[in-house]
Amino acid sequence: MSSESTTVSSNFLRVIIEDDLATGKHESIVTRFPPEPNGYLHIGHAKSICLNFGLARQFGGRCHLRFDDTNPAKEELEYIESIKESVRWLGFDWGEHLYYASDYFDQLYQWAEHLILQGKAYVEELTADEIRKHRGTLVEAGVESPYRNRPVEENLDLFRRMRSGEFPDGAKVLRARIDMAAPNMNLRDPVLYRIIHAPHPHVGDSWCIYPMYDFAHGQSDAIEGITHSICTLEFEDHKPLYEWFLDNLPVPSHPRQYEFARLNLTYTVMSKRKLHELVTQSLVNGWDDPRLPTLMGIRRRGYTPAAVRAFCERIGVGRSDSWIDMSILEDCVREDLNECAPRVLAVLRPLKVVIDNYPADQIDEFEAANHPQKPEMGSRKVTFSRELFIEQDDFAEDPPKGFFRMTPGGEVRLRYAYIVRCTGVVRDDNGTVIEVHCQYDPASRGGSASDGRKIKGTIHWVSASNAQDAEVRLFDRLFTDPNPDRGGIDYKQFLNPDSVVTLTSAKVEAGLATVDSETRLQFERQGYFRLDPRDSLPDRLVFNRIVTLKDAWTKK
Ligand code: ATP
Ligand code: MG
Repeated sequence: MSSESTTVSSNFLRVIIEDDLATGKHESIVTRFPPEPNGYLHIGHAKSICLNFGLARQFGGRCHLRFDDTNPAKEELEYIESIKESVRWLGFDWGEHLYYASDYFDQLYQWAEHLILQGKAYVEELTADEIRKHRGTLVEAGVESPYRNRPVEENLDLFRRMRSGEFPDGAKVLRARIDMAAPNMNLRDPVLYRIIHAPHPHVGDSWCIYPMYDFAHGQSDAIEGITHSICTLEFEDHKPLYEWFLDNLPVPSHPRQYEFARLNLTYTVMSKRKLHELVTQSLVNGWDDPRLPTLMGIRRRGYTPAAVRAFCERIGVGRSDSWIDMSILEDCVREDLNECAPRVLAVLRPLKVVIDNYPADQIDEFEAANHPQKPEMGSRKVTFSRELFIEQDDFAEDPPKGFFRMTPGGEVRLRYAYIVRCTGVVRDDNGTVIEVHCQYDPASRGGSASDGRKIKGTIHWVSASNAQDAEVRLFDRLFTDPNPDRGGIDYKQFLNPDSVVTLTSAKVEAGLATVDSETRLQFERQGYFRLDPRDSLPDRLVFNRIVTLKDAWTKK
């Protein structure tokens, strides 16, 4: 697998559009994002959204949101609402231009009759299986259907009766009459309409025949005056059919289709079927599980729309399939959060520290900067007291070489506060250290020694006097393998057993009791976090780790 760790952002569609505007081919551009409302959006869709809405924004054109709702059996209103919300969350707006392919069902129906009248469509009675068998192969021409040469009148009558509900599902279809020997299989008399007796989420039960995607898509583009119809590479083979419809119907405009390479991202899966399986088999906790690549999931986790847009820009838009490493997405999230996330102190796995020479009834406050490089982000007060919490792994009784944190007899700096020396430990019955005792140096207020002695290590802490209890969820990649979906082996075997580690006894600085879930924070030395918008309650803080401070995976 080739992974693009350093991509130079490029976008061949920008060049095409610049040219079309320069030559006057178009005065302004119109693009569209055409989701099928049969599932929730994922990060791959974000690439398409950023591309279509981004081009329109860059070139002063417009982008439509169009639901490609041609298959009532799989579509639900809930998906429509969720898709709209995800597009808005990404920072894009379709304005007045919200459309449904089903808005065009009348027009599409008339165009189907138009083709029949031109002798370019016929009602087929072969079964789906027979149609498949007659299609031929890449090296063999297909076989013409015995119904292919029906008179126009008979086709029209049958098609109208299909529409009026006379026939059961699957009894007949309408096919284009193009060329059963065409080298491009899509031109071998493709199906245009099928019978489905099912109510439609948008148009109710006014129809029992529904157009196929190929028959609806290009014509919807033409009705809306789309100039650049941008889709993923698998539609390249459909382009001659897209063109054929536009050439053979009295459409009001002639859009052009352009294909780009879809996003493939390592350490995750994006197929709707697999995402569905993960959710329905409870391998994750719902569609907004923060480990999923769904936009609901990454949003809940705390990824920002700006980071996702930056990612889509960075990976560029090309015409050859490639893999993008998950670390690129994570880097974009880190870079965005590094700029805007206030720093706070939080201890994830607490170990109690008692400062024996600090009075029990004394409380001190230190001014702590909210961002080391951004004084404009201000500062806050953090409380210091005789009893504190530090991270368990910031203490080692038997330190490995190069360990500059707390050790028996050694000195360490408590961030913003004092230098302390560890003088002893308290153990439980198993011999585990449950408390550390220290002496502080009163002359080191602020963290530097008055005699100039060097203290290598600085650790973070929170005051036991007012620390807030919190649950912290440490999310990691959902799969341990860069390409779990490679085929030949069940992708579920690669599920990462440690994709979430839940810590229930974390301690965070007092001010976090009132933080809101929109605020992204850096827990110093730990990573970026935000309150889980679903599971946090006023008296129960639950933090999601959005991303670590550094990439721990590329080293693995
Ligand atoms: P389906 O298999 O149901 O068609 P889909 O992922 O193609 O699934 P759509 O709702 O049809 O879902 O997708 C809407 C738009 O998003 C389409 O234009 C599609 O090409 C684009 N898209 C889907 N997946 C990706 C991806 N991984 N990268 C870039 N664009 C994508
Ligand atoms: Mg699709």
